[in-house]
Amino acid sequence: MNNKKRGVLVLYSGSSGVGKGTILSELLKRDSSIRISVSNTTRSPRKGEIDGVHYHFVTREQFEKLISQDGFLEYAEYCENYYGTPKKPVEDMLDRGYNVFLEIEVQGGLQIMEKYPDVLSIFILPPSMDVLEKRLRRRGTEDEETIQKRLDEAKREISFKDKYKYNVVNGELETAVEEILEILHKEVSNNN
Ligand code: 5GP
Repeated sequence: MNNKKRGVLVLYSGSSGVGKGTILSELLKRDSSIRISVSNTTRSPRKGEIDGVHYHFVTREQFEKLISQDGFLEYAEYCENYYGTPKKPVEDMLDRGYNVFLEIEVQGGLQIMEKYPDVLSIFILPPSMDVLEKRLRRRGTEDEETIQKRLDEAKREISFKDKYKYNVVNGELETAVEEILEILHKEVSNNN
């Protein structure tokens, strides 16, 4: 994809358990211009998560070293762990014309909005808080205390939804995916 116009940076947020990951996998299957930034995190891998694919799993020391080298586009502490977007791979993918999704929480999202005021920002909402709680429990990967913490965090995050240019409700997966593709294609054509 050389000599292409620079890709669009997409800030993609929504509370834990809202189905962001599932939507993203569908988007990737359907649109070859999309790439996902792989974040660094200090949290432990969940079952089935692969280092270098879902995250780069690193120690606090490694994370803090990259902070000191100004290696992150943004980073934040969330539920007692660091999460951050490494700068270089994102810049490289954008230069090669790919549309790059940053799946990050709102503290990092606000940093991105400041640095890139033109960022295409999308916030994914659950159809209701009850549905969100059910989805979080069904995942079954976290203990009760963590689930409660994530639910509180979800409420706090949802209060930032109006800072994002687009809000998309994930009620029916297909509808949410179509809506995001439409938003992306509109933005890409405005960008050309
Ligand atoms: P999880 O532990 O469920 O994978 O992620 C927790 C939260 O951290 C999610 O809202 C996810 O979008 C966010 N997150 C993942 N990577 C990053 C990152 O690089 N930076 C920031 N700020 N948040 C991230």
